[in-house]
Amino acid sequence: MREVLLCKYGELVLKGANRASFESALVKELKYRLSKAGNFRVHRGQSVIYIEPADDGSASPTATEEAYGIASRTFGIAAIARAYEAKKDFADVCRTAAKALGERLSKASTFKVETKRADKSFPMRSAEISAGLGASLLEAFPNLRVDVHSPDVVVKCEIREDAAYVSAGQDRAAGGIPVGTGGRALLLLSGGIDSPVAGWMTAKRGAKPEAVYFEAFPYTSIQAREKVIELARKIARWSGTVKLHVVSLTPLEEALSKNCREEFFTLLLRRSMMRIASGIAKEDGCGALVTGESLGQVASQTMEAIVVTDDAASLPVMRPCIGLDKEEIIAYARKIDTYDTSVLPYEDCCTVFTPRHPKTHPSLSDVIREEEKLDLAAIEAEALSGRETLTVPYDHR
Ligand code: ATP
Ligand code: MG
Repeated sequence: MREVLLCKYGELVLKGANRASFESALVKELKYRLSKAGNFRVHRGQSVIYIEPADDGSASPTATEEAYGIASRTFGIAAIARAYEAKKDFADVCRTAAKALGERLSKASTFKVETKRADKSFPMRSAEISAGLGASLLEAFPNLRVDVHSPDVVVKCEIREDAAYVSAGQDRAAGGIPVGTGGRALLLLSGGIDSPVAGWMTAKRGAKPEAVYFEAFPYTSIQAREKVIELARKIARWSGTVKLHVVSLTPLEEALSKNCREEFFTLLLRRSMMRIASGIAKEDGCGALVTGESLGQVASQTMEAIVVTDDAASLPVMRPCIGLDKEEIIAYARKIDTYDTSVLPYEDCCTVFTPRHPKTHPSLSDVIREEEKLDLAAIEAEALSGRETLTVPYDHR
């Protein structure tokens, strides 16, 4: 009995003429990722991608488990059924269902059968298959009765091109659009809770994230940097390999604190980050910047502060968390497993010189007046050219 993962598309089916290119991007990405877990064959059917052990001796249960994890973190797949293959023969479908789903069914009280007949040449209609398979399972499992409204187990039977498949229903997967089909974007990745979520959301909508982290060594520690690398690794589980730029803002922060009014400090820093990030993004062919800002969350994220920050960017800035409450962002951070890393207590370069009374309603002209007190262009150019670039590889686990 072979276990096969049936991966169902979500939005991709709406892509009309472009659908094929989205599908091939998805298959290519899946093949690459699955190669880390074992030897799997990945191929396309009608609105489905099959993942099956490549050699006939079935893959080890851990490899299949890993393959399931990989597929569930691959954007473009909306649902996954862990299915068992049967011959396209009604008696074999019944036998396989009883055997493969026996453990689940013997513990359940109620069930129903749903059938999808993708192969219309199969001689029985969907309703007949459901009724017949239901009757055969009732006979095999006297503990069961049918409940079509809220069953404990939904037995799903799919009659497809080359085989029939039975499963105990399907699980929701990552959804979204295959990574990379929507270009690339540069994520400003701090060690906080919000920016990793923003990066994940960008990847979910098809843009491949690259990241930039601003540090201020020795005011920020090596542990703070390692924490950000770990966050990039967690994002890479979903987005694939992340290129991470590390930029030192130490000279800039020292110059700002020496020359500029303290209440503008965070805004000035944010504007420099935007200019440097725009420079990196353009060099690397990223089409936009991404931040974890959420409207009104802190002083530097009031509407006026965001307008002042935005003014310094020379590319569009996407803010996927803009309308989320902290609670909602935390729920995402837990889901993508970045939360526990984000809350590790290392200082961020923005918290090293935090003003006591930050400007919450700044005017752009006041901010620009502060900037004119320094030769910012020279300091920023040096920060940009001195950056380190790391590769944070895709991690399939
Ligand atoms: P986060 O949880 O993302 O750190 P936050 O609420 O702490 O968010 P801020 O510190 O105000 O927010 O930063 C707002 C955004 O600016 C961050 O989401 C991130 O995109 C960017 N940012 C802030 N500090 C850094 C940094 N040191 N390196 C890179 N980007 C940063
Ligand atoms: Mg932060």
